[in-house]
Amino acid sequence: MTRETNVSLVPSPQAAEDVAALNERAWLLQYGNPLEARALAKRALDLSRAGGDERSAAYARITLACYEMRHGDRDVADQEAHEIRQYFADQHDLRGQMRASFCLAARLIRNGQPELAYAEIIGYLPELDRADPVDAFSMYNSLGICCCESGMMDDGMRHLYRALGSARELGCNDHLTLILSNLGATQHDAGNYEDAIRFLVEAYERLVTAGVESLAPLVASNLAMCQLAIGAHQAAYDTIQPHMSMDDESVHIGTADSAFFKAIAAHTYTVRQEWDVARKLIEQALEGAERSGDIRVETHCHWVHGLIERGEGHLGESLAALQRAAKNLPRLKDPYYPVQIYRELSRAHAELAQWREAYECLEEFQDIFQRSQGSAARARTQILQIQNELDDAERERDFALMKQAEAERARSELESLNHELAIKVDEIQRLQTKLRDQAIRDPLTDLYNRRYLQEELGNEIRLAERRYYPVTVVLIDIDHFKQVNDRYGHPVGDRVLVELAELMRGNIRGSDFACRYGGEEFCLVLSDIGVDRATQRIQDLLDRFHALVVNVGGKKLKNLTFSAGVAEYPRHGRSGEALLKAADVALYNAKAAGRDRIFEAEEA
Ligand code: GH3
Ligand code: MG
Ligand code: MG
Repeated sequence: MTRETNVSLVPSPQAAEDVAALNERAWLLQYGNPLEARALAKRALDLSRAGGDERSAAYARITLACYEMRHGDRDVADQEAHEIRQYFADQHDLRGQMRASFCLAARLIRNGQPELAYAEIIGYLPELDRADPVDAFSMYNSLGICCCESGMMDDGMRHLYRALGSARELGCNDHLTLILSNLGATQHDAGNYEDAIRFLVEAYERLVTAGVESLAPLVASNLAMCQLAIGAHQAAYDTIQPHMSMDDESVHIGTADSAFFKAIAAHTYTVRQEWDVARKLIEQALEGAERSGDIRVETHCHWVHGLIERGEGHLGESLAALQRAAKNLPRLKDPYYPVQIYRELSRAHAELAQWREAYECLEEFQDIFQRSQGSAARARTQILQIQNELDDAERERDFALMKQAEAERARSELESLNHELAIKVDEIQRLQTKLRDQAIRDPLTDLYNRRYLQEELGNEIRLAERRYYPVTVVLIDIDHFKQVNDRYGHPVGDRVLVELAELMRGNIRGSDFACRYGGEEFCLVLSDIGVDRATQRIQDLLDRFHALVVNVGGKKLKNLTFSAGVAEYPRHGRSGEALLKAADVALYNAKAAGRDRIFEAEEA
């Protein structure tokens, strides 16, 4: 015996991701391509075991158990699913539990125990809105079948429609085909052949276009069954024929599905009175049905067997087969098989001249038939109702989504508009500040201009008047400035103006302000200061101006002076105009007195 050691099986995060992807792919493929699903699940199982990943292994195992349940030993599958469900419950892994319960429910449904299957999975219902569509699909589909087979058609149809919604969301053709086929079969069982055929034809067409081989016999048999029920024997035969050559192994359909197909095929040959083929098919079907443990399929087989025996004139064998079918009836809730089988039983008894039994069966048939007529009508209205409900819900949802999208668009538009507006407002405010600044400032020295002085001086005086403090106005005029320009050029004159402005700015407090009054004339407004202290401050400024050295080429421009006139509110004037006038006179006097000095205004 050789042992293989596979280095590539060393666990890594990448491998864990791959295993999860393999598992999901396997689960998704279980209806459309069971062989591939099994192969993938086996690989996922090997990889997860090698990596010690118990949880991924459990996911792989449940896919394999579902396969086993459909194609192999259902007791083994059952045992395995129980174990895995327990494991997932301990892990608090809801999805895993759902899959395990799905497998258990499938077994119970086949066993003719839809109520138990329902109990197994109904607890997951509140979770299905949030579940992955692939899991929501399996759960809704199973719930639908459980309900229909327990006689709760209303709920059943609703679940099946939800499964249809999940299949659409999933966008997987296999799932869509399967659910359409199940919807059709359910309608058939309720006696609503019209809708049944509509669903099944759609399923069949999907399947033909997509080439989903393993579902083909199932859908074809469901469709042919409906066609037989409405007496469209040729159509049923034509539906079945293309699949007659299928090989169970290569197509790989489930044991029960394969048996069901053969039973329907046998029925199509029965109506054509091709007894040999019919008999051979029904024998194979019966064997498969018993092996699969699917009680519906088994019942169906006994019924068709009964038809064949009667067709060939074997009345006793026919009755025995029908009685075997009748034994299963208490476990089948929908009216389809009881109607067929009691009718046949009644005929068989009549042909055997067993009048009392024939009459009893006929009565049973009548009773169930009447009920089934009701159920067919109800099924038809239910379908319409559920479809309308779903259409309404879809429309409402689309409308809400549209409104939401519109509101979202409007909101984001508004937001961007607001944003733009905020930028614009900012820009405008900046521009306004700049414009206002430009309007009140002198561009060369950046001091306030004469216009600002005229506005502010009045305010300053009004404030001083209210608060009883003096305000001093100083007019400054550079001495012999013309000569500076003439000797050094205009740009140097400009520099002197800028330097003096700078000295002034450094010489005033926050409550004072300095303006460029004219060419080389400046004005200072000093609040809460009288002429004496103002004169001291201006003397200080004059000293600094005197000490100023401006480098011009290699030479130094120095010993600059100015003359100033000082006037105080209210001593020398009570208005801005009067004060400026008084200061101007004082300035004139300072110039006349020889310049480089500060003169106080004359008392008003
Ligand atoms: P005074 O001592 O009598 O004041 O003599 P002054 O030369 O300073 O007086 P005047 O009023 O005759 O000359 C002022 C000069 O100031 C004339 C003008 O060319 C110059 N000036 C006015 N504005 C500017 C300016 O923005 N830049 C320069 N560089 N010179 C200016
Ligand atoms: Mg001047
Ligand atoms: Mg001057």
